Amino acid sequence: MKAQDISREKSAELFEKAKKYFPGGVNSPVRAFKSVYGTPLFIERGDKAHLWDADGNEFIDFCCSWGPLILGHNNPEIREAVQAQLSKGLSFGAPTALENELAELIISNNKYVEKIRFVSSGTEAVMSAIRLARGYTKRDKIVKFEGCYHGHSDSLLVKAGSGLVTFGETSSAGVPKAFADETIVIGLNDKAALEQVFVDFKDQIAAVIIEGVPANNGLLIQDKEYIQFLRDITTANGSLLIFDEVITGFRLGFEGAAKYYDIQPDILTYGKIIGGGMPVGAYGASSEIMGHISPDGGVYQAGTLSGNPVAMAAGIAALSILAQPGFYEKQEQTTLAFVEEIRAFITEKNLEVKIFTIGSIFWFAFTSLEKIQSADQIDPASMEKYKIMHRELLNRGIYFGPSGYEVGFISSAHTAEDLQTAIAAIKEALLVAF
Ligand code: PLP
Repeated sequence: MKAQDISREKSAELFEKAKKYFPGGVNSPVRAFKSVYGTPLFIERGDKAHLWDADGNEFIDFCCSWGPLILGHNNPEIREAVQAQLSKGLSFGAPTALENELAELIISNNKYVEKIRFVSSGTEAVMSAIRLARGYTKRDKIVKFEGCYHGHSDSLLVKAGSGLVTFGETSSAGVPKAFADETIVIGLNDKAALEQVFVDFKDQIAAVIIEGVPANNGLLIQDKEYIQFLRDITTANGSLLIFDEVITGFRLGFEGAAKYYDIQPDILTYGKIIGGGMPVGAYGASSEIMGHISPDGGVYQAGTLSGNPVAMAAGIAALSILAQPGFYEKQEQTTLAFVEEIRAFITEKNLEVKIFTIGSIFWFAFTSLEKIQSADQIDPASMEKYKIMHRELLNRGIYFGPSGYEVGFISSAHTAEDLQTAIAAIKEALLVAF
């Protein structure tokens, strides 16, 4: 049965005001709730797995700030580390021991990276990785996959996932044709298409970039064999393979999708979890490849706030917890149990919906297909069901991302009780959606 709508009075007021200042009233497009019902909720605070909005509504949060909050909101260790740093200064524009500490934590626990460079967002990390690949190979073209999102830099905003799909566009206005021409976009899980690209553009491809596990246009889990094919064909053609691990890094494990597939990419990019909720991104590779970055090499990349001490302190606190034995196993077990219970209900009620999951990521797909591995397998009309489910969940105190193309996340702060409450609400919401 449809639940009663929560009050969004204060959020609506704030949204009206925000529209005066920001395009669409937001500072990142999907936040505008364009593809779900109602006004966006203005959040006042978060604690553990819970969020409170301006109207005083409480939610169990499965968006988790789009991924960074694997430890939930207001984690005490992260908060204390940030507070301790605050009294020492916010930014110096000079090296600090904290950068060494975070780098050591990452590199000593990650056999896929020998050297790293910190930046301030996932977008910057990927943009820099692309420049590095081009500088290293002395080639210009890159290959990306339809539905994979790699941040909003020019050459990567082509057929790029939730934000654009949600707004019915395949590519952003303002990207020069000359830039887009250097980006070749093909479907995921299509070996023949990639083989053809390497025939058509022989010796011109700097890199093939893929999300570790594509998770920005639904959750498109690839088979290891396909990822191995990417590794082999790039090696054979002198091109680099870039794993964009902005979502999967420190989410599937400390070594992310590289470990999951047991494949060594040439360059890896990170974001989200790496900063414990603060703005941090990073890219890493072998010492040899990273040697091409300035000041030692000719590929320029810099940042006023790169390696920011407060952000580093948050990252160190977060990753120190994640590095503890058993953390990821527990997360995965919890997520699987959560998903299985809903799956059993879906089977019992014979509903046309699947839940795809990996690590502590999950995605509801309104489909009859058993597997979805490329963006074109998603029927846009199925998003109508997500829209209903989203509204019903908010009305039952469960916060999912405001787009059916977005995945959900489970944090270590979700208690068994939170998950049982969510399961009950999801069951009811699904029944309303059907
Ligand atoms: N790469 C992937 C795989 C992402 O999911 C995102 C953001 O969602 C980015 C890059 C861009 O990161 P940011 O939003 O921090 O710029």
